[in-house]
Amino acid sequence: MSPEPEQNSTSVPDVSLRGVTKRFGQFEAVAGIDLDVAPGQFVTLLGPSGCGKTTTLRIIGGFEWADSGRVEVAGEPVRGDEPGRHTRMVFQNYALFPHMTVEGNVAFGLRMDKLPKAEIKTKVDAILKNLGLTDHASKFPGQLSGGQQQRVALARALVTQPRVLLLDEPLGALDLKMRKRMQGELKALQRDFGITFIYVTHDQEEAMNLSDTIVVMEKGRIEQIGTPEEIYRRPASPYVANFVGETNLLPGKVTGLAGETASISTSIGVFPTHGALTSENAEVAVSIRPENIQIAPSLSSDLRRGNGLVHSKAFLGAFTRIELDVNGTMLIVSTPGTLDIAIGDPLEFGWRDEDLLCLPAALTPKEESL
Ligand code: ATP
Repeated sequence: MSPEPEQNSTSVPDVSLRGVTKRFGQFEAVAGIDLDVAPGQFVTLLGPSGCGKTTTLRIIGGFEWADSGRVEVAGEPVRGDEPGRHTRMVFQNYALFPHMTVEGNVAFGLRMDKLPKAEIKTKVDAILKNLGLTDHASKFPGQLSGGQQQRVALARALVTQPRVLLLDEPLGALDLKMRKRMQGELKALQRDFGITFIYVTHDQEEAMNLSDTIVVMEKGRIEQIGTPEEIYRRPASPYVANFVGETNLLPGKVTGLAGETASISTSIGVFPTHGALTSENAEVAVSIRPENIQIAPSLSSDLRRGNGLVHSKAFLGAFTRIELDVNGTMLIVSTPGTLDIAIGDPLEFGWRDEDLLCLPAALTPKEESL
């Protein structure tokens, strides 16, 4: 099938949300969201269970009314009482018609649109071929594996050539191996078809693997929007730093503020830093990724150093994860390969100051105990 998405205009975002809120009774599930998605982007809504990802997706798809705010797809307002004409949705549980064959499921939307029979056949054959389903065309969903069923659901959505495909944890029901394989297929499909994907997951690795842009959500709000690299390297808050990848978060205090530079005092030392710091004595959070902490004997001379005791050690294949007790502060260290150290051993460690990130927010007690 030759991918022919609807004509995209670069000036109009495919999806635009302004001040979108949604309440269920007293509970605010979506709390004033602004988001623009450019045509052809793979955008992922990432966050823990209950943060409002699915509700946001359902609002974009026209399955749910927003209580306030503006929702547009392809420049047209979206109503909450009928599926939008530019969007199609793919669900975690596939939602296939069990009494229809694969071919029947995929052709369903085109039949509803009353396309000529010959055109339906051409389109269905092409998309089944594209998704490697030709040999399964006459099977029923119950005769297929989870991965195959999800491919049918994708084929059924893509065959109608929507402008925006909405995917709600579509790989959530698959085992790890199949999930990885389907991630590759999804990315390739999105590239081939050139349409916008808005994807919902709570799995940060999946989000990093698939997305051009990640939207990190928490309690109905957007915490940060950025590329996977921006989100990982420059998290906007302790919450994002901790949710996307593992990190060490240390409570710190600004001391010696002079213009753009200052020192940050923490339980494991005092560090120079620069950037938009608020004021002397302001409470901040210092983040350092486990892979950015080096340990003896391979410490280069330019590192700032400290000493700790090995609290735990776990060999995880590609790397070893160590918990280091530094005067009562627990530091997680991730280092390649195996190590000849025992629990209780003293261990020197080091880091580069540029790998420390000073986040302008005090840690909550929950974050401190992570
Ligand atoms: P998950 O990954 O678990 O699906 P999510 O981030 O997609 O989580 P939503 O499904 O959007 O979260 O739900 C956000 C919040 O709104 C949750 O606390 C949920 O219980 C609540 N909620 C969602 N739909 C309804 C509803 N129809 N009625 C009442 N509360 C709802």
